[in-house]
Parts: sequence; C-alpha cells; structure tokens
Amino acid sequence: MRKIITPQERMAIKRVVMPQLAAEVRTRNFEEVNCGLSSNQAFTEANRCLQCKNRPCVPGCPVGVSIPEFICALASDDVPRSAQILQQDNPLASVCGRVCPQETQCERLCARGKKGESVAIGYLERYVADWAMCHQEKLLPDQASGTTGKSVVVVGSGPAGLTAAGGLVRLGHTVTIFEALHDTGGVLRYGIPEFRLPKKIIDHEVALLVSLGVTIECNVIIGKTLTIAELRNQFDAIFIANGAGLPVMLKIPGENLKGVYAANEFLTRVNLMEAGRSNNSSTPIIKRREVAVIGGGNTAIDCVRTARRLGAEHAMIVYRRSEAEIPARTEEIRHAMEEGVEFVMLTAPIEILATKDGWVSALRCRKMELGSPDDSGRRRPQAVNGSDFEQPAGIVINAIGTGANPLLTATAPDITLNDQGNIRVNSNGETSISGVFAGGDIVRGGATVILAMGDGKRAAVTIDEYLGQHPHT
Ligand code: FAD
Ligand code: SF4
Repeated sequence: MRKIITPQERMAIKRVVMPQLAAEVRTRNFEEVNCGLSSNQAFTEANRCLQCKNRPCVPGCPVGVSIPEFICALASDDVPRSAQILQQDNPLASVCGRVCPQETQCERLCARGKKGESVAIGYLERYVADWAMCHQEKLLPDQASGTTGKSVVVVGSGPAGLTAAGGLVRLGHTVTIFEALHDTGGVLRYGIPEFRLPKKIIDHEVALLVSLGVTIECNVIIGKTLTIAELRNQFDAIFIANGAGLPVMLKIPGENLKGVYAANEFLTRVNLMEAGRSNNSSTPIIKRREVAVIGGGNTAIDCVRTARRLGAEHAMIVYRRSEAEIPARTEEIRHAMEEGVEFVMLTAPIEILATKDGWVSALRCRKMELGSPDDSGRRRPQAVNGSDFEQPAGIVINAIGTGANPLLTATAPDITLNDQGNIRVNSNGETSISGVFAGGDIVRGGATVILAMGDGKRAAVTIDEYLGQHPHT
C-alpha cells in the first residue's frame, strides 16, 4: 500500500531525475543510456500532476494522448488501467516515451512548468508502456475484429506503416506490409541507435502485429520489385509510408572522397548491419580518431555519439548556427556533451580535404555569425570574412538532412508531388490516385515519430471509411 500524498506534499516534490548509465561506461558500449524509472519514482512523479480540468498538456501531443487520465491511474497505483488508457491512444508508447521531443510538446504546456518544472510526462509514458510490454496478461486481450474480406497493402514498416497496419488489422482488414530492407521498423531500427531505443521494443511491436495477422514481407522494393499500379490491381487500398531517407548533399568539393558518409548510410551500417559492433558483421565501417559530423539535428547527434562508441577520441559536431538554434533534443545534446563530444558552433564546412591517396584528412571551415531571421524563423548564418581554418578529420559524416526518395514515385507518375518530391495528399490523407493513401515523412518531409504515427493512425480510419464506400474496387 503506497503512502497517500497530501496537496502540500505534492507541490514540494521535485521533478524526477532519470537514472542513466555513467558517461565513461556508456561511451564504450551501445546499452541504453536512460535506465527508466523505478515503480516508486513513477508513482511519486505521477503525484506531481495537478489533474488540471482544462488539460493544457493534451493539445501539445500530436496524437492527443489522454495524459491526465493515464497519469491519474498511475498516481492511484492502478498501472493496468493506466496502460490500457495509454495503449488506446498511442500504440507505440514505449517508442514515444523514449524519442518524442516532449519538452517542446506536452511538457512545454504543462501547468506545473509555469512556476517550476513540468511533470515528466515522457518518462511516465515510458514507464507505463514498458510495464505493459512485460505484463500483457494483465491487460485486455488485443485482437483483430472479424474479417471484412478487404485487403490493404502498406508500403514501408516505419512508425507510420506499423501504426496504420495495426489500426487496419484491428478493424478486420487483411493487411500486408512490403518493406524494402531486410528488417522492419524504418528509422526506428536503422536510424535511431540502440543506446536511445533498444531494438527489442521494435521487435515487440512487430511481433504483436504479426500475432494479429499482419503479413510482413521484407526485401520488397516498391518501384523495383513491384509497382504501385501492380499493387492497385491486387489490393483494395494502399498506404504509402516509405519515409524520406534520401540524403541532401553538402554540395562542397571533396564530398566523394573516401571516408565521407551520408548519415543514414553510417547509421544503417552500424545499427542494422552491426558494423563495428559484432565480429560476425560482414559490413565494413571505417574507424578514425577524429570524426566530424556536419549538422545539428537528432540525426547528427546520433551519428556523433555512435562514432564515440566506435572509438573516435575526438568526435565533433560542426554546426553553422549557435546553440540556441540547434534543432536536436536538449537531452541528446546534454548526453553528447557528457560523453565528450565537441560542439564546433557557428562554423560551416566549405571543402573536404584529402590525403594523396584520396582519404579524408580535414575539413576546411569558415566561421559564421548570425544575421536576421530566414524563412524558418531562425537567424541566418553569414560568413565572417577571412575566418577560414582547417579542422583535422579522418571521417566526415553528412547529417544536414534527407528528402524524398524518387524510386517509388518515379514508377507512379499519376501520384502528384510537391516541389520537394513529397507526396501531396488531401485532408483524408488520400493521394491523387483514388484508394492510394500516404503519410509520414514521405508527405511531411523529415518530421517526427509521433507525427508519422499520427498519420498512420488517421490513415487506418480513413482507409476503413474508403473501403466501406467502395464495396468492390
Ligand atoms: P521511416 O521511419 O523512414 O520508414 C519508412 C520505411 O519504408 C523504411 O523502413 C524504408 O526502408 C521503407 N521503404 C522506403 N522505400 C521503400 C520502397 N520503395 N518500398 C518498400 N519500402 C520502402 N523523430 C523523433 O520524433 N524523435 C527522435 O529522436 C528522432 N530521431 C531521429 C534520428 C534519426 C537518425 C533519423 C534519421 C530520424 C529521427 N527522427 C526522430 C525522425 C523520425 O524517425 C521520422 O520522422 C520517422 O521515422 C518517419 O516515419 P515514417 O514511417 O514516415 O518513415
Ligand atoms: Fe498534469 Fe501537467 Fe497535464 Fe496539468 S498540464 S494535467 S499538471 S501533466
């Protein structure tokens, strides 16, 4: 029986601190850095919540998780009810509890944050979802409802595809996912490293879908193995969720030198193919003392922290704006700093230099200063005359961004695209071809897990409505 917390005690409780692996230990392995809350910590943190009647935190969540309700159940020590509430709203809560930028979403709007620190909503979400993963028997059984006789194909097994597949199979449709890679999860598996998101969580979500009847076929590239037109003949509806994984090029001399990686290639080699981590991996990875990662988003921070773990003594972020503009999550930046990553700010690379054998030897950089805001609202970096310098580096990783891969859409000319090559959809998430829907990064450009998941969730509903209105397509 837990101690009842009085209103005075509630206001005096300090926000919980997430236990984490010591920096000197974790830079030598790929184990998860955040260790998760204990049951006592979660209970106490849940009791910091004021149960605000107007629920200010909820609009901050792109999928509208019933935040006060799941926290209330947890604060009453009813974890199964808390898990049931959370699962209804967020099928990937263990993932989101780890990687969502809560500090700019729900926690930013939390009433407790006005005069102190917000409730640690993300940590509580992770606690409850992890509990649910280990105590399925204490929850209502998750099952598909009957069968409608309709078939839907999902292209891509990232968060958008997995969420849509889960929603559709639970509505009674026959669902097949085609995935280009040899394993599932999209960026969750090949991009976000194990030290932030353990693969066993993705395995659990995928196993759940398979147990509900979803068929997953890997190594099928839509646009190569099969086209959208062929899929349209075989299935009653299509959901395209193939992400946006094509690297944006640096467009500076030296980009093709040996030792230059695109972020997704570097991360895929290490995360998906175990390069540098397992003696059994047949995929090579170059290791060097000095590694320069260009960019300031989550992808850049994941690369630089991975490079540290692969043995780089001097791993650095080279970013053209200042710390105030850096887009990566605050927690990831703090973790990177604790791990000894250097942040070379207000610096733009202008050339990659080589040894006489054509291997990367250094970055030629130029110092920047910030001018007036650009279209994104962030202050525009401007070159400082005469400030060029050389930064020694044996590996350069380009993490400035990704865009839509034209491989699929090149074979589906009837699908309308925007100027960046992303698929255009209407308010129902439907593309210019009837019965073909799309969501996630391929529509939004590089976004977030929760937005991709929200698209998948909505797609399941709108595709179900579409199938109801089109008895035979
Ligand atoms: P993806 O996750 O990209 O999945 C698309 C899937 O489709 C992939 O499995 C791909 O192999 C497959 N595919 C592609 N083309 C084809 C084809 N032709 N045929 C069949 N299959 C195909 N977001 C956050 O919220 N928090 C974070 O901390 C965060 N960190 C990130 C770190 C990295 C390194 C990266 C790259 C992104 C990060 N993001 C983060 C962004 C987030 O991961 C993405 O917004 C999200 O994964 C998009 O989901 P999606 O399902 O649209 O696409
Ligand atoms: Fe609880 Fe904060 Fe949401 Fe209020 S805003 S209900 S305190 S989590």
